[in-house]
Amino acid sequence: MPPLSKNIAHVRERIDSAARRAGREPQGVTLMAITKTVSPDRIREAYDAGIRVFGENRVQEFAAKRGALGDLLDADWHMVGHLQSNKAHAAAELFHAIDSVDSVRLLQRLNSAAKALGKTLPVLIEINIGGEAAKSGTAPESGELEEMLNFAGQCGSIAIRGLMAVPPYDDDPEKSRPYFRQMAVLFERIAARQFAGVSMQTLSMGMSHDFEVAIEEGSTCVRVGTAIFGERARPRPKD
Ligand SMILES: *Cc1c(COP(=O)(O)O)cnc(C)c1O
Repeated sequence: MPPLSKNIAHVRERIDSAARRAGREPQGVTLMAITKTVSPDRIREAYDAGIRVFGENRVQEFAAKRGALGDLLDADWHMVGHLQSNKAHAAAELFHAIDSVDSVRLLQRLNSAAKALGKTLPVLIEINIGGEAAKSGTAPESGELEEMLNFAGQCGSIAIRGLMAVPPYDDDPEKSRPYFRQMAVLFERIAARQFAGVSMQTLSMGMSHDFEVAIEEGSTCVRVGTAIFGERARPRPKD
C-alpha cells in the first residue's frame, strides 16, 4: 500500500476505535484532510485513497492549487483558517464551506458574496475556546456570538451548520479534553435554542495529536493534516 493510503487507513482505524469507545457510530465522524502546504499531486493521492473532504487555511494558496484539482469534482473544500473580510468574496467563490467565521462583519460579507454568487454557503462559527489572544475565533460567552446567532435568520444566503474550535496546544491530548467538553456543552446549548438559520449538525474539533479525545467528547469532524501527510516543512507567513 502506498504510504499515504496507509496513513489514511491508520487514521480511520483510530477514528473508528475512538467512536466505538464512546459508544458512537464511526460514520458519525467525518475525516477532513488538511492540505495546507500540500502539493496538488499529494492531494490527488489522498483523493484516490478515498478522502472527499478537504480543508485549507489560506485563500491564496488554495486559489493557486485549485486549477490542478479541478476534476476532483465530488470533493468538498472547506476554508478552516482565519479569513479577513476583504477576502470574503474570493473565499465564498472558491470554497464549498467556511468553517472559521468569527464575527458578524464576516458573516455579513460572506452573505452578500454568496448572494451575488447565487449560492447558499454553509458555515461554522469558530470559537476561541481557550481565550487565547493570538488565536482567532469568537469568545464562547460573548455578545458577538449572540449577535451572530441572532443575525443568522436574516442571512438568506448563509446556513450556520455548527461550531469549530482549536484548543490551546499541548503535547498531551488529555489537556484538550476539558476544552472539547466545553465545546460540546456550548454546541448542545445553542442547538436547544433553535435560532432561525442555524442547524447544529457539525462540531469540528480534533487535529492529528488530539482527535481521539475530541471524538470521545463528541466531535463530528476531525481535521487531520500531519498524521496523513507528515510534518509540514515550516509555518508560512499569514496572508
Ligand atoms: C493545520 C490545521 C489543522 C491540522 O493540523 P495537524 O496537527 O497537522 O493535524 C487542523 N485545523 C486547522 C484549523 C489547521 O490550521
